Amino acid sequence: MLGYILLFGKLFVVIIQKTVSQLRLKLTSLIHRHTYKPTSNPRNIVVIGASFAGYHAARCLANSLPTGYRVVVIEKNSHFQLTWVLPRFCVVEGYEHKALIPYWPYLQAPLGSYQWVTGSVTTIQPGGDSKGRNGKVQVSSGDWIDYEFLVLATGSTARLPSRVNWESKEDGMKALQYQQRRFKEARDIVVVGGGAAGVELATDAKSQYPEKNVTLIHSHETLLNDGFGSKMHDVAKKAIEDLGIDLVLGERPVLPRDETGNIELGDRTVHFDCLVKCIGQKPNSDLVHFLASSAIAPSGHVNVRSTLQVNDERFSNIYAAGDLINVGTIKNGRSAMEQGQTVSQNILRAIRGEQQVIYQQKWWEGLTKLTLGLGKSIVYLNDGHTEMTIALRNQKIELDSAAVWKHLGATPYKDESGA
Ligand SMILES: Cc1cc2nc3c(=O)[nH]c(=O)nc-3n(C[C@H](O)[C@H](O)[C@H](O)COP(=O)(O)OP(=O)(O)OC[C@H]3O[C@@H](n4cnc5c(N)ncnc54)[C@H](O)[C@@H]3O)c2cc1C
Repeated sequence: MLGYILLFGKLFVVIIQKTVSQLRLKLTSLIHRHTYKPTSNPRNIVVIGASFAGYHAARCLANSLPTGYRVVVIEKNSHFQLTWVLPRFCVVEGYEHKALIPYWPYLQAPLGSYQWVTGSVTTIQPGGDSKGRNGKVQVSSGDWIDYEFLVLATGSTARLPSRVNWESKEDGMKALQYQQRRFKEARDIVVVGGGAAGVELATDAKSQYPEKNVTLIHSHETLLNDGFGSKMHDVAKKAIEDLGIDLVLGERPVLPRDETGNIELGDRTVHFDCLVKCIGQKPNSDLVHFLASSAIAPSGHVNVRSTLQVNDERFSNIYAAGDLINVGTIKNGRSAMEQGQTVSQNILRAIRGEQQVIYQQKWWEGLTKLTLGLGKSIVYLNDGHTEMTIALRNQKIELDSAAVWKHLGATPYKDESGA
């Protein structure tokens, strides 16, 4: 009991600290808006990838860089793709547009302080001076863009329900609708992978279609293993079993490529006519392989120093943040944004010739919300001493979509991008 009270107390302090830091950011942005002057040949800070890490880093930079600098955001997708709702919108029809949020309004920065480029970075060419400055990146259009500082925020690669994997809104919506049709038409659904995406998908599928057979297969004995304590497993397992999902733990069967078939388990065979693989998420570090292969960890993540500079002495002007990097066990949007903010602070400090600050993962960055079927979610907290889950009931089908749209400066669900 005492542990819970202390945990709530610590969370309350964090909420106050975050509110103060938001207010400080708003105030500095306001001052910046009146002091920043666009110039004809600004020096570029290039940010590759505008999801949680990169979009937030870009916002912080565009609202704090001195005159003479600007941020150039290069993002391949036409819209911000909200991962949190993808498992749900793979199952339930009619919500898919809510996962695709129009870009730009989050930056809220003065004219000239940023440029947005829609395209994919294909090559990074580092600069020739001792600090690797004056480098350039090539975009899929063939254009080269100079940079003085570079932020790598290319995240992870995966397929639905973890990433959309299509660049335009239209294609992204079609991909989600295709998944919805597969669930609707199936009788025997098998979900492989008991991480967050697999658990959310299987529980949503069974609560949307209680008459269908849903099997969830996970290779470990514990669900949601990465960085979560046993409480998360216990609560998820109970919800899965209460829904009547067939849960198979500790099995790693050979997975067929076909749309329909059988999966051989240790003691039986499971038939499927809809198989979804929620496994194989990988860090998207290809660009770094060619630049600084020694900075790639065996997991494929990018090794960084405590200042979030890429761990290669030649490139102190290249920073990385988010799912891409090899830091701590927590990989989520909150943590990616914290890292994006540290990166922006350190770039500003480097421009001013000040000492770099250190990023340390904080316990509250691991606060996690997990859906366990339509209308049911839990919040999970773990400060290293006490684990706690809080049940949330009567959640909307669209979950927090509207709140995230608003947070990103967009009006739910108005998309004036023409897409
Ligand atoms: C199903 C699911 C539910 C989740 N729920 C939560 C949750 O409730 N709360 C939470 O905090 N986190 C949650 N997460 C985790 C969260 O989504 C990730 O940690 C977060 O997306 C990481 O953000 P990122 O910016 O590092 O990278 P990503 O989100 O992977 O984004 C990388 C970006 O880089 C772009 N990019 C990649 N390569 C290039 C290139 N060469 N050129 C240009 N652009 C490029 C991509 O288009 C993309 O926009 C969830 C994840 C999943 C899969």
